[in-house]
Amino acid sequence: MHNDNTNLKGVRVRFAPSPTGSLHLGNVRTAIFNWFFARHTGGKFILRIEDTDRERSTPESVSLIMESLKWFGLDWDEGPDVGGNFGPYYQMQRLDKYKKYIDVLIKKNMVYPCFCTTERLAEMRHQMQKQKLPPRYDGKCKNLNKEEIERLTSQGIKHVLRFRVPTTDTTEFKDLVHGKISIENSIMDDFVIVKSNAGPTYNFACVVDDIEMKITHVIRGDDHISNTPKQIAIYKALGINFPEFAHIPLILGPDKAKLSKRHGAASPLEYRDMGYLPHALLNFLTLLGWAPEDNRELMSRDEIVESFSIEKINDRNAVFDSQKLDWMNGVYIRKMPLEELVNIALVELKKAELIKDTKEVDIDKISKIVALIKERLRKFSEIPQLVNYFFDKPVYEEKPVRKFLKKDGVSQMLQELCKVIEEVEPFDIETLEDAVREFIEKKGLKAGQVIHPVRVALTGRAASPPIFDVMQVLGKQTCLKRIADALA
Ligand code: GLU
Repeated sequence: MHNDNTNLKGVRVRFAPSPTGSLHLGNVRTAIFNWFFARHTGGKFILRIEDTDRERSTPESVSLIMESLKWFGLDWDEGPDVGGNFGPYYQMQRLDKYKKYIDVLIKKNMVYPCFCTTERLAEMRHQMQKQKLPPRYDGKCKNLNKEEIERLTSQGIKHVLRFRVPTTDTTEFKDLVHGKISIENSIMDDFVIVKSNAGPTYNFACVVDDIEMKITHVIRGDDHISNTPKQIAIYKALGINFPEFAHIPLILGPDKAKLSKRHGAASPLEYRDMGYLPHALLNFLTLLGWAPEDNRELMSRDEIVESFSIEKINDRNAVFDSQKLDWMNGVYIRKMPLEELVNIALVELKKAELIKDTKEVDIDKISKIVALIKERLRKFSEIPQLVNYFFDKPVYEEKPVRKFLKKDGVSQMLQELCKVIEEVEPFDIETLEDAVREFIEKKGLKAGQVIHPVRVALTGRAASPPIFDVMQVLGKQTCLKRIADALA
């Protein structure tokens, strides 16, 4: 409802991560929303690496970021590796551009050098906090004259450049998600735009790049809302129109705190390694804070591209529900062709050492096993745990053993059943089931009185895929041996 009149021609959006680690789910979702908006509008999606934090930025992080985006299939039209007309796409390679804009601001007297030491600033902040005032720069260096500046500079005292925030009026913008946001300029801080090492700060570099890269919409997390008025103040000082802003609500953990590693929420690559499908995670994250008109949940990439709009982004924080993610992943797993799933299962089984060599296995048997567990599978890493009894002796769980095996008459019944099983020929599901059902009827028992003990004897657990399927895959001799072992 906010951006009815936004011009959606020539959209240019950017995803601008700081390469100080791998992406987390919050910033991945920012990338996702930007990407869908670009693809929906036929615009451009740009990857910009914000590496001005020299100590913490690493090339490894850049690789991880790109690998994550590629895993989701979020391709970029311009960026560090693919180039483009507005590069370079690493901020540290753009220092000359920042210099140009600093000169303009100096000329307009919109910045001033500040020589305050970190100790003084810390003390000042401390005092303000004590008086319950918002910590902000007290303006000590705001009105230094030329001679004072020259004297301090000649003494070799380091300085930063501060932006001279107007002291009157308000800064206002219409956020495409939250609506009108305004803040009194008088409560804004004279923030630093050039650090003492001459490097630009985030707020400044971001504005210069968004201008130079002709960004039309800035879509980013709510955690940046407080930066936006500062950035707008810079645009205004430069006399340049600012882009549209859309701040997307945060993702919260189940305890309603901002989603973090503490919640087990890791990088997308860790989700990949846990056995999630990229599209399942993409679909899930897209719905954290956005929904299509008809509230559909399972959507293909093309369907999301087709229906994505900023107006439908929710202005409330979204809560991460890992059970829903597991459900969604399971749905997408079941849509996979069986052969593909078998190949993944082979890798997981080898990792868990349930098979030795992926080439020397009975593919027919593995396919049957995978087909049997497909229904309950939620992520690939669960495969070994769901199927280990097909490869190894079962691990007997205490509760079902007590409940179904250690019961009067059960051992006698199983011994008799073994005789029936021995005679089943051919050992296929149908013949087997007929024979066992006949046995149940002859004994005047309920199906469960036979099937539950058999299941526990063969698998060690209370739940498994249909028991006759399991028996057929295990084979007659294994079934007989396991029942005998269980009785012993
Ligand atoms: N480098 C910033 C971050 O990773 C980008 C914020 C923005 O999109 O302006 O949070």
